[in-house]
Amino acid sequence: MVSKLKYDMMETYILDRLNNILATENVKDNIVGVNYFDFSYDEVLVNMLKNIFDKVRINEKTFSTTYRCDNDDYVRYFKLNIIPMKNQMIKLEHILTKQTKRKTSLKNFGRSSKTYKMCAWCNKVLYNGKYIEIEHAINGLNIFDDEGIPSFTHGICESCISKIDRELTSYEL
Ligand SMILES: [Zn+2]
Repeated sequence: MVSKLKYDMMETYILDRLNNILATENVKDNIVGVNYFDFSYDEVLVNMLKNIFDKVRINEKTFSTTYRCDNDDYVRYFKLNIIPMKNQMIKLEHILTKQTKRKTSLKNFGRSSKTYKMCAWCNKVLYNGKYIEIEHAINGLNIFDDEGIPSFTHGICESCISKIDRELTSYEL
């Protein structure tokens, strides 16, 4: 099932030149003052994002990409615009473009003490050294076992690194 979306489904973050969060819109948590890279991102993801942010600041041109970020009930796809502003600030716009209901809602699962790494762009989960579809992990691999849903840290998988490299190449043409 694909839901029709309203365009108020947009979260924004404004970062200063050191990537401290100056302001947000439609973001539930109060994270103003926090550095964007204080979240649980691994080194590869941090370097990828810093590289993109720097390119936007240098080129003074918006970079756009797409990614997936699910919640308990929906598989969700977003467009991300990274927009240059004055004084080396940048604005991140996360726009929900498509969502489909999950076969299994995750709402009623407990939370386990386990931690897995997830690709921040496609939501695949790192399992035995390979990134796999999260639905596959839920249904087939007992990642979400009796203990419930694990915590996730964020990294980025090889195919998303390639995708972003291609997008950056055409961005810089
Ligand atoms: Zn990925």
